[in-house]
Amino acid sequence: PTSSTTLNADSKERTYIMLKPDAVNRRLIGEILSRFEKRGYNVVGLKVLTPSRELAEAHYAEHKERPFFKGLVDFLTSGPVVAIVIEGDNAVATARTMIGVTKPQASAPGTIRGDLSIDVGRNIIHGSDSVESARREIGLWFRPVEIVDFKPVDHAWVYEK
Ligand code: UDP
Repeated sequence: PTSSTTLNADSKERTYIMLKPDAVNRRLIGEILSRFEKRGYNVVGLKVLTPSRELAEAHYAEHKERPFFKGLVDFLTSGPVVAIVIEGDNAVATARTMIGVTKPQASAPGTIRGDLSIDVGRNIIHGSDSVESARREIGLWFRPVEIVDFKPVDHAWVYEK
């Protein structure tokens, strides 16, 4: 264990995770959050909200022309979501692996979608697809003061360096 209070740069990578209204309505918040926590990731931002249409559309702006866009925005604005910032080594890519692929039925058992969902339109969770997207999405959903900077006491038991 080190006495340093600074984290190495890798362990500070952040990703934006969102539990969609199906996850919240199905009371899966704890189940899903605990997977990231047990893995060793830190929750540094967390809130429950029902997003406005404007926010949902901005979040999924890249899909604006897709046939599923309206349904997706209707769904996201229908009920609460949990907006989450997860921090840790390689957080963006590892979270995507833990989540599975877009279609739940193509997601391996052991992944969040592969264990807990069936339909692409009810795939329960979002995770940023790149460090760049993560930065954009965190900025969209959180104000800087809503994200904490801390180092858990078990840091040296999760990371060798
Ligand atoms: N989606 C959908 N129908 C489709 C493709 C996507 O309803 O045919 C929804 C689904 O909820 C998905 C989201 O749109 O999670 C964003 O799609 P993307 O391809 O970015 O997938 P993701 O990054 O969430 O796996």
